Amino acid sequence: MALIYKHIKAHHQWHRQAAAALDQQRLARDGGMPAQRGGPESAGAADADSAASVHGPGPPARGGADVLAGARPDGHAAKAAEAVRREPAARVARERVSRTPVIEVRGLRKSYGSIEAVAGVDLEVCAGEVFAFLGPNGAGKTTTVEILEGYRQRTAGHVSVLGADPAKAGRAWRARIGVVLQEAEPEAELTAGECLSMYAGYYGRPRPVAQTLDLVGLAGQRATRCGQMSGGQRRRLDVALALIGDPELIFLDEPTTGFDPAARQSAWAVIAGLRDLGKTIFLTTHYMEEAEELADRIAVLAAGQIVAQGSPATLGGRDTEASVISFTLPPGVPVTDLPPAVAARVTRTAGGHVEVEATSAGPLLAELGGWAEAHHLDLLDLQVHRHTLEDIYLQLTRESR
Ligand code: ATP
Repeated sequence: MALIYKHIKAHHQWHRQAAAALDQQRLARDGGMPAQRGGPESAGAADADSAASVHGPGPPARGGADVLAGARPDGHAAKAAEAVRREPAARVARERVSRTPVIEVRGLRKSYGSIEAVAGVDLEVCAGEVFAFLGPNGAGKTTTVEILEGYRQRTAGHVSVLGADPAKAGRAWRARIGVVLQEAEPEAELTAGECLSMYAGYYGRPRPVAQTLDLVGLAGQRATRCGQMSGGQRRRLDVALALIGDPELIFLDEPTTGFDPAARQSAWAVIAGLRDLGKTIFLTTHYMEEAEELADRIAVLAAGQIVAQGSPATLGGRDTEASVISFTLPPGVPVTDLPPAVAARVTRTAGGHVEVEATSAGPLLAELGGWAEAHHLDLLDLQVHRHTLEDIYLQLTRESR
C-alpha cells in the first residue's frame, strides 16, 4: 500500500505543476496576476514519471498555451458522444472480448525481504475483457497490479502489458493505460471541465472533454469546482481523468469502496459503459456482487498464488457444486418419514428445519413435492439455494485467511 501513497503524493505534485501551467494561461489570457500557488516542482525523474502516469503519459508534453487547446469544441464532442451512444450495445458486448492478449503474466514473483508477496502468478487478460482480481487483505493484489502498471519491479517472471515489459516501457506505452487509484485528489480550484482540459493537452489523441464528462455522468458538473464536488462526484472525476487520454487498458483499484448503494450502482453503470466501448478493464475489488455484475472472468489470489480462475458462474466449480434444498417440516413429522431418496441426502436438521444436498435439484424436488401432496403436508419455506460467489470465494480463501 505504501507505493499507492507515493503515487498519490506524486500525483498531487503533478496536479500543482499542471495548475500552475493553467494559471500561466489564465494570466496570458486575462492579463492578470497568477494565483498564489506552488510553481512547477523539481520532482525527481522517477517521481515525475510516476506522477504523470497516475492518469496519463507523463509530465506536460506541450507548452502551457497548448493545454486548453487539447479540448475539442463542444459541438464535436457532442457528436462523438452521440456516436458512442448509438453504437449497438448487444453487438459490442458479443464481439468485445477478443483472443488478443493485453496482459500476459508467467511465473511472476515478488519478494519484500523474506516476505514472498507474489509467489508464482500466471494470468492472461484479453482485449475487451473485464478481469476481476479478488483476494483477502495481504494476498498480493496491489503488488501484482503495481508491477503490471510499471510502478514496481518484479523479483522474477515474465510480464507483458500491451506488448511491452512494464518495467522498461516508456511514455507512449503509459499513454495507452488509465489508472484509477483508491484515493486521488484533483486540484480543488479548477472546475471539472478545466481539470479535464488540462489533462487532455498531454495526450496525442484525447477523448473530447464533454464526451468524457458525459461518460462518467458529470455532464452537468462541467463548471463545478473540484473542491465543491461530493465524494461520489470526485470519484467519477477520477475515472474521467483516467479516461481523457482514451486508454485501451484501465486499472480500477477498488473503485466503489465506501460508496453508498446508489452511488455503487451508478459507478457500475459507468464501468459497464467502458466495457461496452471495448476497453480492457483490470478491476480489484472486495465486493463479490461487483465482480459478479461486471466481470467476464475472475482470478482469486490467496497468499500470493492464484487459487482459482473462471467466469463468475463457473469459478471454483460453482456451476457443478451441489445445491441445497431447505424446508420446514410440519410439527410432529419426523425426518425419517421423508421419502428415502430425500432422507439419504439430508445434511442438516435443526428443529423442523431440514437441509438436503442435491447435485441435481429437479428430481429430488419432484420426489419431495409428490410425498408432501400425498400426505397433505405443507412444506413451509421450501427453497433451493445455489452457492453464491461469496460462498465459493470464502471456501477458496479459507486457508489463507
Ligand atoms: P489489500 O487487500 O489489503 O490491499 P493486497 O492483496 O493488495 O492487500 P499487498 O499490498 O500486495 O496485498 O501486500 C502483499 C504482502 O506484501 C503483504 O504481506 C504486505 O504486508 C507485503 N508488502 C506490501 N508492500 C510492501 C512493502 N513495500 N514492503 C514490505 N512488505 C510489503
